[in-house]
Order: sequence, then C-alpha cells, then structure tokens
Amino acid sequence: IDAHPNLSDTAPVALSYELFPPRSPAAAETLWTTIRELETTEPDYVSVTYGASGSNRDTAVELINRLLLETTLRPLAHLTCVGNSPQELAGIVGELLDTGVRGILALRGDLPKDASAPAAGSLRYAQDLIELIRRVEQRRSALLCAGKIAVGVAAYPSRHPESPSEEHDVEVLLAKQRSGADFAITQVFFETRQYADLLTRARRAGVTIPIIPGVMPLTSLRRLKRLGELTGVEPAPQLMARLAAAGSDLERLHIGVDATVDLANAALDAGAPGIHIYTFNEHQSALEVLDKLALPRRSRPGSRRASGAAQLAG
Ligand code: FAD
Repeated sequence: IDAHPNLSDTAPVALSYELFPPRSPAAAETLWTTIRELETTEPDYVSVTYGASGSNRDTAVELINRLLLETTLRPLAHLTCVGNSPQELAGIVGELLDTGVRGILALRGDLPKDASAPAAGSLRYAQDLIELIRRVEQRRSALLCAGKIAVGVAAYPSRHPESPSEEHDVEVLLAKQRSGADFAITQVFFETRQYADLLTRARRAGVTIPIIPGVMPLTSLRRLKRLGELTGVEPAPQLMARLAAAGSDLERLHIGVDATVDLANAALDAGAPGIHIYTFNEHQSALEVLDKLALPRRSRPGSRRASGAAQLAG
C-alpha cells in the first residue's frame, strides 16, 4: 500500500480527528498524550463527541475549553438534540459560542433503547437543530462579526438504521443542506466503493456541500464488533477473519492500517475534500494511517492551518 498516486496533482486535503471526552482521570491522561501527538500533524480541526441527551456535557465542555486554551487545535463541538428542549439547546449553543467555539456538528443523537421517536418537547431531527443554531447565530450576529458558525452534519454511506432507503438518507442530507449545513462527515464504512456511491447519489440529488469521509483505524476486532452493534454497519467479514487470525498485535495493526488506507485512498480517488479519522482517543494507528496516506496539506499560516472544507476559521 502506498501513498495516494495522484498526490502531486491534487488540491490540499483537510484533516480532522474525532475525540471523545474522557471518563476517568486515567483516560484523561491518555487522551492528552494523544492530543499532543495529533497536534503535531496540524489538523484543521478536532471534533469532540457529545452523549445523546447531554449525558457527558460537563466533560465535553471541559475538553473543548482546554483545547481552546491550551492547544493550537480548533474544536468542532458535536451537539445532539434528542432529549433536550429547544430552550435548553439554545442555551447550550450560546454557551459554546461564549467559550469560543465556532464549529458545531449538529446531530439528532441515538434514541433511547425503548423509544421509537424523540420525547415530546424535544426537537425531532438534526435538521431542526441546524435551524435553531442558525437562529442563535442570527441573534448573536454582533459577536460573530469575524465569520459565521460552521455547521456540520452526519451523512450515511450505508442506510441509517431507521431510514427506509439510502435514497431517503440523501433526501435528508439535502434537507440538512437547505436548513444551513455547511459540510457533512460520514458514518464509518467498510467497503471501498461506499463513499463514491454516496457522493454520486448526493450530487445527483442536488447536495453540493463537502462530504468528508469518516474513517476509523480498522485495527481492533472488539471495537469493530461493538461498532457494528451501535451503528448497524456490519464490518467486512474478510477483514474480521484476517484480524482474528493475526499472530500478534503488531500484525493486527498492519492489517488494520492497510485496510483503512485502502478505504481513505478510494475516497480520495472519488474526490473526498478531506479525511476525518475516528481516533477512539488513540494516536498510534491514526498516525500510522496518516503516514501511509501522505496527504497533500495546506501550509499553516502562523499556528493556524487554513481549511476550505470546514470553514472553522474563527
Ligand atoms: P437525522 O439526520 O435527524 O436523522 C435521524 C433519522 O430521521 C434518520 O433515519 C433519517 O432518515 C430521519 N430523518 C431525518 N430528517 C428527516 C425528515 N426531515 N423527514 C423524514 N425523516 C427524517 N451520536 C451521539 O449521540 N453523539 C455524537 O457525538 C455523535 N457523533 C456522530 C458523528 C458522526 C460523524 C456521525 C455520522 C454520527 C454521530 N452520532 C453521534 C450518531 C448519530 O447521532 C446517530 O446516527 C443518530 O441516529 C442520527 O443522527 P442524525 O444527526 O443523522 O439524525
């Protein structure tokens, strides 16, 4: 596996990472080692996940604050709307803006296990949250004179578990674009053609915003199984078998990294404007993937890299 073949001719590619708020002091220590390692690669932004219904809100806000104050990294704050009233969400968006956040990934969040629809009084779809964020932005226009908030959304290379079809998913993405989304990040996918197929469906339907492939280092069997359960996206059986047969952690790392690089290269071939790496708060496999991809990156003015894809310049 080599670096992307068309690198010398391609436009700069945006790079971003997903982190989640730590659940213990020991996890926080590991996370901060990861953050320092990832910072050296000068990503365009790092996204910070948010538990549905705000279950980890305090640790998410704390992590975002520290990223803003102690690092050169720009946070993209995930925000879910399931389980919160519009008033509560407007308050949370206002707090994020006061903290210095200028990028929000607007999500519905997974429904509680026993529910088939969001609770009465909470917003129904991510689309409603985008509109709410844009309303808050409007009210804060004097504060935000340096530029608007970048709003990202989720996109699905394979059908969302509650959706009737992949075509419906693309209609939803179009609706999110019309409500004010600036870019999308995809759910994980395991087949090389899936990103290109999503892009074709989306462009045909009129979606013009950048769609950034989200790739996870495919190095952990346990994590792949768990992810299959959580997202409904089944990992490729062949990859699972190869990982299971690996004789050592190092061999497993190589197999997983190579499979991830294949996926990312296929997405770049299809025209991906960036790569978003689901790090699971670990840097080693993310950096291995990055090393092999050798992405063409924009050089960084001062300590801030200018990114077209996520417009997070604040
Ligand atoms: P929506 O776009 O609202 O879609 C939800 C369902 O409703 C879909 O089935 C869709 O087809 C349907 N739908 C949407 N709009 C309409 C409409 N107008 N008319 C009819 N049907 C409609 N979850 C977390 O809890 N925390 C996170 O931090 C988090 N980060 C994520 C990051 C990424 C990049 C991705 C891809 C997912 C993330 N998720 C996260 C998971 C996400 O919350 C779930 O996939 C959730 O089930 C759907 O969220 P959504 O924003 O896509 O919802």
